Amino acid sequence: MSKIYNVGIIGAGVSGVVTALQLAKHNIDSVLFEQEKSVVNGPPFCHLHAGGNLYPDISIEQCKLLMKQSIEMARLFPESIDERPTFISVPKTEKYEIAQLTERLDALVSYYKSLIEEDDANAILGKPEAYYKVYSQSDLADLAKQPTVSVPKSADQWMINTLQLIDYSKLKTPVILVQEYGWNLFRLGAQAQLALEKSTYCDLKMQTNVRSIKDVRHENLDYNWEIHTKDQVFKVRYLVNSSGFKTGDFDASLRIKADRLIEFKAAYVSKWQPITGLIPELIFHGERGTPRGMVQLTPYRDHYYQIHAMTNAITLFEKGLVKSDAEIKPEFDKAITQKLKHGWETNEVNERTEKAIASVTHFLPAFESATVGGPPLFGAQQIPGDDPSLRVGEVSFPCKTYARSEIVKASSALTVANQIIHQIQDLGIMSNLGKKGDENALLESVSKVEIDALARQFTLQRGYPEALSQLLIPRKH
Ligand SMILES: Cc1cc2nc3c(=O)[nH]c(=O)nc-3n(C[C@H](O)[C@H](O)[C@H](O)COP(=O)(O)OP(=O)(O)OC[C@H]3O[C@@H](n4cnc5c(N)ncnc54)[C@H](O)[C@@H]3O)c2cc1C
Repeated sequence: MSKIYNVGIIGAGVSGVVTALQLAKHNIDSVLFEQEKSVVNGPPFCHLHAGGNLYPDISIEQCKLLMKQSIEMARLFPESIDERPTFISVPKTEKYEIAQLTERLDALVSYYKSLIEEDDANAILGKPEAYYKVYSQSDLADLAKQPTVSVPKSADQWMINTLQLIDYSKLKTPVILVQEYGWNLFRLGAQAQLALEKSTYCDLKMQTNVRSIKDVRHENLDYNWEIHTKDQVFKVRYLVNSSGFKTGDFDASLRIKADRLIEFKAAYVSKWQPITGLIPELIFHGERGTPRGMVQLTPYRDHYYQIHAMTNAITLFEKGLVKSDAEIKPEFDKAITQKLKHGWETNEVNERTEKAIASVTHFLPAFESATVGGPPLFGAQQIPGDDPSLRVGEVSFPCKTYARSEIVKASSALTVANQIIHQIQDLGIMSNLGKKGDENALLESVSKVEIDALARQFTLQRGYPEALSQLLIPRKH
């Protein structure tokens, strides 16, 4: 008789890998399917949203949840966290007021304090009183006279380097520096894959496409689902659908109805000249979907910079946001499907990257000399329900022994994994449910050297500059 797995997981994006790792921690065996050559190979991420400060319109509840979940994920994958701050500004042309942001920031400082009171190890964003700093017009004028610092150690030094480059006459004052860090997807993927390969509880099936699912819950067997791949059938008691924007495909085949949106977006890789001092991530807020949508410049090593600009000509796409009507799974048009399946045409890479560079040049004139640095980081993601501004997605349990993960930000992966484990415990479907194992022993058994090597391999395999696998601010060990 073929093996029966307790849990079958479709998709090894951040959600699937974290679910498999958490299950292993509880001594629950799983089989994890990924159609690609490596894990965490879906839509990209670069920003740890520890406070939601890139989203002026979301509620303080969502901001707090993003902060809590980001801290939890950073504790799990410390080698993927780039400890450089984020500069937040509002151009004079935009409607947002800085006061809107600072009110929320004060609430976040109190919340962060309470997280540290619960557990000292939550202090990953530094001291609560230094979580953010506001700079007035006169502060900026003073700091702009100071010399740059090659590797800044304080908020003021990060700000000095920024002021050497940006045209701050275009910005409202005050501006803000906040401890929202960078998040390296290649390093997170490498650590997760190495840990899963070491795990005796997870059977990781790479380059294995799940073709269909058969519901056998009513056949009185010792398992509930059959997972069909090209040449094998896997029997599982509990099914986790974490297939990203494809969650709807499996729902449709199981005749499960759900409202959802799927969204295709891209970030662009550029290369610039050497500058005298490192800069933080730069945010110039703007109304999403308009020609002045938010511009985000993310620094990497070796003078590479990633750019998002929330306009239809750059990061967003005409028909890039598709809604399902609960009956029919959402589908992208031909042009987007072509990109997802076969990649981009060179001329479109160049055209959109150049527009991205121009959007940055508006605030950072010297960035004009930046050039295309590699292919875009792109992908499609799911948003449960029908609200495109939702930033904290979650898990749902459409029927017994079936969990559907639909996270909107990578930071929600651990919360989702823990909710799935609680449901598995509540259902009592496993007689061999183990006690919680050593705190993150599996992830901690992976060395920095191993992460460096595999993260580098991931960038090269996927056609990106090797520098994207490294942290701007290497961690102290
Ligand atoms: C441009 C862009 C920028 C973003 N930036 C950020 C950011 O800065 N911070 C942040 O927190 N979030 C960010 N996000 C969101 C983040 O990328 C997603 O929330 C997250 O990656 C979703 O993870 P997931 O595991 O749910 O899905 P995915 O990562 O999509 O994983 C699903 C996996 O399932 C696999 N799969 C699908 N079908 C099958 C099948 N039939 N058989 C086998 N395998 C299958 C896929 O290959 C894929 O690996 C960004 C998204 C985009 C598009």
